[in-house]
Amino acid sequence: MTDSRILVDALGRIHNNLRISVTDRCNIRCFYCMPNENVQFKPRAEILTFEEIVRFTRVAASLGVNKLRITGGEPLVRADLPELIGELASVPGIRDIAMTTNGILLADQIVALKQAGLQRLNISLDGLREETFERISRRPGLDRVLEGIFAAQRAGFEKIRLNAVAIRGITEDEIVPLGEFARRHGLELRFIEFMPLDAENNWSDDQVLSGGEIREALENAFGSLLPIERTDPSQPATDYQFADGIGVIGFINPVTQPFCSDCNRLRITAEGKIRNCLFSIAEWDAREVMRGGGSDEQLCELLHDCIRAKKPGHGIDSPDFVRPERAMYQIGG
Ligand code: SAM
Ligand code: SF4
Repeated sequence: MTDSRILVDALGRIHNNLRISVTDRCNIRCFYCMPNENVQFKPRAEILTFEEIVRFTRVAASLGVNKLRITGGEPLVRADLPELIGELASVPGIRDIAMTTNGILLADQIVALKQAGLQRLNISLDGLREETFERISRRPGLDRVLEGIFAAQRAGFEKIRLNAVAIRGITEDEIVPLGEFARRHGLELRFIEFMPLDAENNWSDDQVLSGGEIREALENAFGSLLPIERTDPSQPATDYQFADGIGVIGFINPVTQPFCSDCNRLRITAEGKIRNCLFSIAEWDAREVMRGGGSDEQLCELLHDCIRAKKPGHGIDSPDFVRPERAMYQIGG
């Protein structure tokens, strides 16, 4: 591939990491992501088919994309997901396929997913008490998430990551138990700051439990956390090791410590809109190109247009910040 083909933006950020949302549907209703009731899901006909997702990925891979993350909505509610993973794994140039899931349907599907070529897993777990789980997700299901985590370990997944969104007034008491749980079971734990992407538009910055505060709570319980040198500058988390050497903990602090300057991620929504940022207002319609008989070259141009337009940062802390109309489940986290 010539340098002129790679997806590089005006700040020199090279985009090799594609997040593919396979559905906007979900089996729970986390308040920081979805509405509780009457969710307006996209009709099936508007959602990209597997064939379209694979074609788009092949084109993106021809421009240097080599890492994929499957997300949603809840990716495991999409039927036949292992089939898609298998097809994506055989796209030339793709060397890493990961998935982010709420874990509820994981135990049933994990073996097929692994066999199909899924390499890495992030499982969302904000706390260990059913009460916290239901307060956040507004549905029951913690037992099934835990079952999913252990099933993934049994299936041979290494370095499973737990993603915990931290919310003031709700998850303070969960921080240390989550740390203990992760250490005991050999899981990596990452705390994520609550971002203004909730569907009900109730986010306020005083609900953001910052990575700094969480770190302090963990250090009070476990002793100093020792910074781990970053091997990949584009990784969003700052990682630490516990002082006794058992366990790794990461902080993704998009609100208090934005990491936009090293961002290498682009996204495609379930209905085929390409986005250069979670917080982007503009979108580029890959489905229109594909269903309108457009060529792969036109898809390449669309991808380049999207990346060229990427802003330096999300601007959450700016007085001019405008939230995207889409909520997290409609983008793909
Ligand atoms: N349903 C899957 C899940 O929950 O893991 C995948 C999609 S979900 C949108 C991806 C990740 O985004 C999850 O770890 C979730 O906790 C996180 N998330 C959702 N809304 C968020 C918000 N407003 N701020 C921060 N993280 C959020
Ligand atoms: Fe569903 Fe994931 Fe959104 Fe929670 S964060 S509502 S599990 S898509």
